[in-house]
Amino acid sequence: MTKSKLTDYVINPYTGCQHGCKYCYATFMKRFQNIKEDWGEFIHVKVNCPELLKKELEKNKPGHIWMSSVTDLYTPIEAKYKITRKILETIANSPYKNKFSIEILTKSALVRRDFDVLKELNVDLGMSINTLDENVTKIIEPMAALPKERIKTLKQAKEKGIKVYAFISPVLPGITNLEELFKELNFCEYAWVELLNTKPSVIERLMPVIKKHFPEKMKDFDFAINHPKEYFEKVKKEAKQLEKKYGLRVHDIIEHNSLDL
Ligand code: SF4
Repeated sequence: MTKSKLTDYVINPYTGCQHGCKYCYATFMKRFQNIKEDWGEFIHVKVNCPELLKKELEKNKPGHIWMSSVTDLYTPIEAKYKITRKILETIANSPYKNKFSIEILTKSALVRRDFDVLKELNVDLGMSINTLDENVTKIIEPMAALPKERIKTLKQAKEKGIKVYAFISPVLPGITNLEELFKELNFCEYAWVELLNTKPSVIERLMPVIKKHFPEKMKDFDFAINHPKEYFEKVKKEAKQLEKKYGLRVHDIIEHNSLDL
């Protein structure tokens, strides 16, 4: 459990993320540990995380915990190690659990396994999604759940009484269809909309993929990268219109540089 400038605390049960999204902003984690493999091809399991957490819940001030900021807490290896589940159980069984609200954000249907524990916590469960087109997902987010699985998982969570939200992220210029996402996700309590993080490490990795698979979208990306303010205003205006049209409250619209780490 680490203090964070993005929220009060973050918990990252893993270093690396097997989902391997082509736009991931967390690849800088490789630098800290001198990792040579490509992002998506390594994963380090923080096996002692649940044990350490017991004391941290006691000593830390009340606040909001985001899981997770630089990995997906349901990255595929979680099915084997169950570190995330142990973390959630540690919080649920702690005498200090009421000090903390929890925000879970994933792209995996594996979270269904833990609905029983989530129901014991003050939690908002979100799915990150940027398209309904599974052909796009298979290229951009090769190991994550397909969009229909993510939406189904959120609906199932809601039926269990868990508060759910949509994290429309990142808005991929010329690819993300905000209207169809707002329409499909309007059963959620609220939605975040996050623009693409256009820091150099993201762009260097993402643009060859766009050029290869979606060459007709290059001009949309060029506009978003070179005119960030105009692009932000355009997305903001559209999101505000869709908020009214589909009754899905926009919690916030995040500009890429506000999350630049
Ligand atoms: S799921 Fe999140 S942390 Fe994992 S690769 Fe994708 S963007 Fe990065």
